[in-house]
Amino acid sequence: MSSNAAWFDRAQAVIPGGVDSPVRSFRSVGGTPYTLASGEGAYVTDVEGTRYLDYVQSYGASLLGHAHPLVIKTLQEAATRGTTFGAPTPGEVLLAEAMTSRVRGLEQVRLVSSGTEATMSAVRLARGFTRRDTIVKFDGCYHGHCDALLVAGGSGVAQMGLPGSAGVTEGAVRDTIVAPYNEVPTLDDSVAAVIVEPVAANMNLVAPLPGFLEHLRLECDRVGALLIFDEVITGFRLAQGGAEEYFGVTPDLWCFGKVIGGGLPVGAFGGSQRVLSSLAPLGPVYQAGTLSGNPLATAAGVAVLDHVTPDDLAILAERVTNFARDLREAVTGAGLFALTPNVGALMGLYLASEEVRAPSNFAEAKVVCENGLYRKFFHAMLSRGVALAPGAYEILFVSLAHTKEDLERTVSVASDAAKDVLS
Ligand SMILES: *Cc1c(COP(=O)(O)O)cnc(C)c1O
Repeated sequence: MSSNAAWFDRAQAVIPGGVDSPVRSFRSVGGTPYTLASGEGAYVTDVEGTRYLDYVQSYGASLLGHAHPLVIKTLQEAATRGTTFGAPTPGEVLLAEAMTSRVRGLEQVRLVSSGTEATMSAVRLARGFTRRDTIVKFDGCYHGHCDALLVAGGSGVAQMGLPGSAGVTEGAVRDTIVAPYNEVPTLDDSVAAVIVEPVAANMNLVAPLPGFLEHLRLECDRVGALLIFDEVITGFRLAQGGAEEYFGVTPDLWCFGKVIGGGLPVGAFGGSQRVLSSLAPLGPVYQAGTLSGNPLATAAGVAVLDHVTPDDLAILAERVTNFARDLREAVTGAGLFALTPNVGALMGLYLASEEVRAPSNFAEAKVVCENGLYRKFFHAMLSRGVALAPGAYEILFVSLAHTKEDLERTVSVASDAAKDVLS
């Protein structure tokens, strides 16, 4: 019982589709997913003993790479003290302090257990605080799978070729307006909040055009709507202060996840004390969680945030910028056209048979992502030991554990893979 196929058969019998999150299935690329036994740094090893250089990195949750010694030691120590209590613990205060001290304007956070919970709660808070109903989101931005935000959601929804999700009622999305990314919508005073990925990273990578976030800020201010930055991917990766620091635009509410849990389940939403005071027990907006602020997760999160310096992130960004250029040149040199837009340490990969312009919204990203080339490239890379995400709408996650040599090897593998795609 140690082949990928055997595990996946067993999984499919007891787990729908064999996966606990649809993006992990190989639905859009074809084939049988590898079942992982372990990970170390930039690498993962499947149950058959095959080792892959991993650019999935839990979709951004492992900034330090897998099984980092510091995280392991922190978790071992924390576990001996108990794993959950249902009472305040120092760990949640330490993580909240670690976050608020690094992000300008972020005065308070409430910890939850996933990014989905963070966005769902932030939307409820924004509605409760403003006493308005309408939410504006952007086509192709993914904000987790809560009903009100699961329209035009990019990522897994787009990968499955679904227009949206069954089971989401018309009522649940009646107050959600979808606008094209990179165009500032004209708002009115029915709008409670505008939620945006400051760098769109769930429709492959789409960078905000100059002025987009700034003008969104002004438009929200004009009508008294709250601006929500979904920094679940950008937070503590783009810069220590996240997208707020990187772009110099300050939202009213932030959502975090992924990096802040150090590889354990955590999310957080936050903002000014004035807005956050609307939350129970201080205010009328109810929000809760049995495992919120979990001692193991907060310990891992604090360890990671304290370990990573601004220099580390600057070096990572530079490394990714060079990697993006080299990868693009290698693939294009082999006769396939590639675009590898990057914003700091975030990097996308679009493949095309002829030159295309960098997409600036979902409609443009979709044309390239649906051209069928990615699935071939994905398998050509995987067969050479490099694991990209099994979907054209995902980005590449380069961790702090990826060495220059790892990246160089990826570039040379990509050149061969591109030739395979064309043959
Ligand atoms: C992953 C993601 C979420 C959802 O986080 P989960 O922990 O998977 O619920 C929300 N927003 C963005 C931008 C994400 O990338």
